[in-house]
Amino acid sequence: MSFDLSARLAVRRADNLYRQRPLLESPQGPQVVVDGQPLLAFCNNDYLGLANHPQVIEAWQAGASRWGVGGGASHLVIGHSTPHHVLEEALAEFTGRPRALLFSNGYMANMGAVTALVGQGDTVLEDRLNHASLLDAGLLSGARFNRYLHNDAASLAKRLEKACGNTLVVTDGVFSMDGDLADLPALAREARAKGAWLMVDDAHGFGPLGANGGGIVEHFGLSADDVPVLVGTLGKAFGTSGAFVAGSEELIESLVQFARPYIYTTSQPPALACATLKSLELLRTEHWRREHLNTLIGQFRRGAEQIGLQLMDSFTPIQPIMVGDSGRAVRVSQMLRERGLMVTAIRPPTVPAGSARLRVTLSAAHTEAQVQLLLSALEDCWRTLEPDHA
Ligand SMILES: *Cc1c(COP(=O)(O)O)cnc(C)c1O
Repeated sequence: MSFDLSARLAVRRADNLYRQRPLLESPQGPQVVVDGQPLLAFCNNDYLGLANHPQVIEAWQAGASRWGVGGGASHLVIGHSTPHHVLEEALAEFTGRPRALLFSNGYMANMGAVTALVGQGDTVLEDRLNHASLLDAGLLSGARFNRYLHNDAASLAKRLEKACGNTLVVTDGVFSMDGDLADLPALAREARAKGAWLMVDDAHGFGPLGANGGGIVEHFGLSADDVPVLVGTLGKAFGTSGAFVAGSEELIESLVQFARPYIYTTSQPPALACATLKSLELLRTEHWRREHLNTLIGQFRRGAEQIGLQLMDSFTPIQPIMVGDSGRAVRVSQMLRERGLMVTAIRPPTVPAGSARLRVTLSAAHTEAQVQLLLSALEDCWRTLEPDHA
């Protein structure tokens, strides 16, 4: 008896699904060095260009000098330090909720929130394109787990009819591999009509969306009654690391009591919270970042449509180009790389079978000239590829 790992790996390779980790040899940003090669990158989630911002770095360094490096213990023991607490208060104020709770990352925030809120005898309903962490959390919770059609409030309503126990409706705010927005007003209406709670993971909305970067909830002007459980992550537009859940006093106290991924882990380094406090300030106040980003999104979409690329229904910094076949997606990505550009091919199982795509992401750190370089390279690659596509 043995684990036949080599056979599994060989199948993965044969299916064009084999994954490799590019080695980043520079800080995050538009211009990177990857595997020894200087590249212009359009694939990180640093939408506002804060991951390598001098003031954020300075806040981190000052935080380390003042508070040391390690969290040292879990929050409930003696790891909940002043910077964590101050950041939670700032995030509560930012989201307009009574409280916010800091987690080590988004995966754990989702796992913690879902499993603390529903269990056996309850129901969790999720968009079928939700982020893996939300789907995993739903399965782990032990609640009845059901997926509704993507962004389809009618499909959700049908499942709500059959729901039992406490019912949690869970959706991405901005869908991470498509870039489209959840139809939150409609989803919130259905959930409220049935006494269910709506949980929104707005990992990609905080920062780019909303007049003050408050994400999809600010974009739609929804209340805390519409979205009782609001999750944000700090590793995307915030440019740092970690995540938070914002909501009522009772919700947050319940998570402190019952969310195992909150309880049984060491708190994040306090200096990291210092850095995030600075990036929150920049995210809220430097409106030019959002404005410039929107200019680039418009420029990219117009240019890509002229080339005849198949874009998706997105006005966010996530601008995937649909390719379909995994092998072809990898090939285009490779061709771009030969031209000095880095755009990742996203393949199943991250996206549904037959919907491999190039996931282009834009950042306020990009220039219009850089976006033009991307468009020219894409046009060039598409022209080269056309014959075997037909
Ligand atoms: C990235 C992401 C997460 C995970 O957040 P991490 O902090 O990276 O663990 C959760 N949900 C969505 C929608 C994401 O895009």
